[in-house]
Amino acid sequence: MAAVPTPDLTLYDPFVRMQLVAPNCFLCGTPVDPATDKVPVFAPWLRERYQLGGKPIQMLDQSTSNFDELSIPCCAKCQHEHVNALEARVEQATTESPQGLRTLDEQTLFLWLGKMFYGIFVNELARELEPLIKPRYPLAENRTLFSRFRCFFQVLQALRVPMQYDDFMPGSVFLLDVDLGPDDAPFAYDDDLATMVFSIRLGNVAVVSCLLDNAMLRDVMERVYADAQTRPLHPVQLAEFKARVYYGAYLISAIPEYFPRPVKPGDEVLVMDTFLDDVTGAVFNPWDTMAYAQTLEELWLPWQIGLRDILRDPHQPLSYLYDAEGNPRVLAQFPE
Ligand SMILES: [Zn+2]
Repeated sequence: MAAVPTPDLTLYDPFVRMQLVAPNCFLCGTPVDPATDKVPVFAPWLRERYQLGGKPIQMLDQSTSNFDELSIPCCAKCQHEHVNALEARVEQATTESPQGLRTLDEQTLFLWLGKMFYGIFVNELARELEPLIKPRYPLAENRTLFSRFRCFFQVLQALRVPMQYDDFMPGSVFLLDVDLGPDDAPFAYDDDLATMVFSIRLGNVAVVSCLLDNAMLRDVMERVYADAQTRPLHPVQLAEFKARVYYGAYLISAIPEYFPRPVKPGDEVLVMDTFLDDVTGAVFNPWDTMAYAQTLEELWLPWQIGLRDILRDPHQPLSYLYDAEGNPRVLAQFPE
């Protein structure tokens, strides 16, 4: 009987020598030919199922890309053994209905979202390093952003390295049912690199996540999340829920750090520990109603709900998730 090879539990850190946009496999660092060795950010099954081929994506530098164009360098081994395997799991779970997302374990869901989010980040970075482009908000000069993505990438490597998060989840993931109207697109996504928020909707199931908060938002939003699951949300309600996640993520002041435990011979899983650097004692910065209202206004743009309406009561911003008594609202249509 052949001995089962023990898995390689070495982590790769593309941030040490800034190999993020170099022709190296994004997962293991092996040099590759990026013209042929690459994986799409949005998997082929997703693009086919939701007819995303050729659909435009607005990039941070104001240029336009599309769903087929976005890809990241990836060696053949990582492609077949890790990325395709993960995508196949999600594809299979959602074949009958996007509700199948609920059957996936937390780590699978985290890695699936994380792969797309990281892919978008790398693509944004690559564009901005092109000499003719002058971005409005240069990512490459943002040290906080880089240290966040460096931490995030450590736990994202569970995609390749058998890994166990010891008693924590690196991110908050919320799954919500949405009551779509006939004009709503079957697929949607949005993200914010600075706050590590990524949201994707397959049909009538929305996934909203903050991918680097050790599930702190999940904790503080426990009641709002429970209430939001009591009925399918109208899209205007989903936008409000997202505003709470976006703004909550913005308020987080303590960024998690991760540490791999030393590997002993024969170990088959890398165990990760975490540490929250909250020297100031506060995990969240103080809530500011005006700033929240502005986030809400941005997410409610499609419904043209302005700040004046949102702040009619300056202490209690407008809500479609809750009524004046604080009970979950059922919203059949908008405007009512
Ligand atoms: Zn690789």
